[in-house]
Amino acid sequence: MSTFSVLTLGCRANQTDSEQISELLRTAGFEEVRPECAADLGIVNTCTVTAEADRKAGQMIRRLSRLCQLVIVTGCSVAPKGGLSDRSSFPENVLVVPPSQRDRILDFIPTVKAEPESLNSSVVIADATDKHGEVSSAEPFTSPKLNIKPHRVRALLKVQEGCNHMCTFCIVPLVRGPLRSLQANELLPRLHELVERGYHEVVLTGTHLALWGRDTASKRRFRGAAAAGTAVGGSGVETLSTVGLPNFADLLEELIKGSQGVRLRISSIEPMAFPVKILELMRAYPDRLCPHLHLVIQHASDKILAAMHRDYTLAQYDSLAQEFLRTVPGACLTTDVLVGFPGETEEDVQILLDYLKHTSFYHLHVFPYSQRAGTAAAGFSNQVPAQVKHERVRRVIALGEESARRVYASFVGTVRPVLAERSSPRPGYLLGRADNFLEVEFPGVVEQVGKIFQVAIPPRV
Ligand code: SF4
Repeated sequence: MSTFSVLTLGCRANQTDSEQISELLRTAGFEEVRPECAADLGIVNTCTVTAEADRKAGQMIRRLSRLCQLVIVTGCSVAPKGGLSDRSSFPENVLVVPPSQRDRILDFIPTVKAEPESLNSSVVIADATDKHGEVSSAEPFTSPKLNIKPHRVRALLKVQEGCNHMCTFCIVPLVRGPLRSLQANELLPRLHELVERGYHEVVLTGTHLALWGRDTASKRRFRGAAAAGTAVGGSGVETLSTVGLPNFADLLEELIKGSQGVRLRISSIEPMAFPVKILELMRAYPDRLCPHLHLVIQHASDKILAAMHRDYTLAQYDSLAQEFLRTVPGACLTTDVLVGFPGETEEDVQILLDYLKHTSFYHLHVFPYSQRAGTAAAGFSNQVPAQVKHERVRRVIALGEESARRVYASFVGTVRPVLAERSSPRPGYLLGRADNFLEVEFPGVVEQVGKIFQVAIPPRV
């Protein structure tokens, strides 16, 4: 049997894509091995969100090319506007499959489906991007029926692909293309299958989840607006449900009502266009919709948010975050922070630190800004020197760690449903995630991994 390994960079959406690729390969008879092992086939699923991510992707490609007979590189870095457009430096045994062709990965390597000896170590780069050009709204967004790794305790389900927003630092809309959404009737059969396989938690992922449904809604809106004389405003915090059109909360409700025996977790979500009905659903279905939001803030200075084209102010973000924390029992908030954006001054950093200090974030995912060719911000003249940027990152990370300890302590003694994920380094204990994302250590044995237990949150040892 042929073997394969996968290395993934980037966001949850990319992880979902990798799992879909793995599922395709397993279905074709491949056996998965760990990325540090030699394999017949290596997959590198790249991320191009920063120049640093492209650099890491290049490293991974070289590493796997030494361990594997053939390496397939896919993901955002090798999309038409991705950062690894110069493939001349790739080793000879590398095959490039752009993300638009990902679902057809086996077609690009037909011989690989046979026996290991048929793998050709001198396969040259096959670049399908020339034929397909930019990603368009017609680009299909499909996924194999099952997209799970057997050893995972939670499954990922991608409900939406692409973004129409164009934040000035982000290349993603150009590489993943515009918004495309899957409907509840396409998603429910997959959800049922995951439940049948014994999953107790499914994470709903997408590039810009809050915009789910707008691709289909905008067509209906056009007809509806013509008929009723109504219109929907810009992309601020507003909901399409106000004009009776579907949004992400409606999808969540359909998925909750159409399934049972599984809790749903919302992956990273943007505050722009966030449907507040999601909070109502969290209150109404506490066992089905996890009280956790990874609500991306990026910065707290309105000047920087405007320069990033984030389309909200700190006051708007805060009002949503506070409503979530105040009204959803057990609510836990996490976020992404981008530090060192062009034009960021010490005063902006102070605004950011003050806000983070006074808001209950359980986890901060802190990124230093890096210039990404092809984005508007890459051309801004007021770039922050690398040394200054890294010193600011260090301060934000330190504050985040303090905040995480504070939030965790506030839950000690409360009882929460915890999904057991893996053995703890401490013998006789397991590590798991509560519904609200707290990482919890509790007594247990490895046979209990994958199940949910009511756990009194213990003090940290
Ligand atoms: S909302 Fe902004 S950061 Fe998120 S994918 Fe779209 S452009 Fe990128």
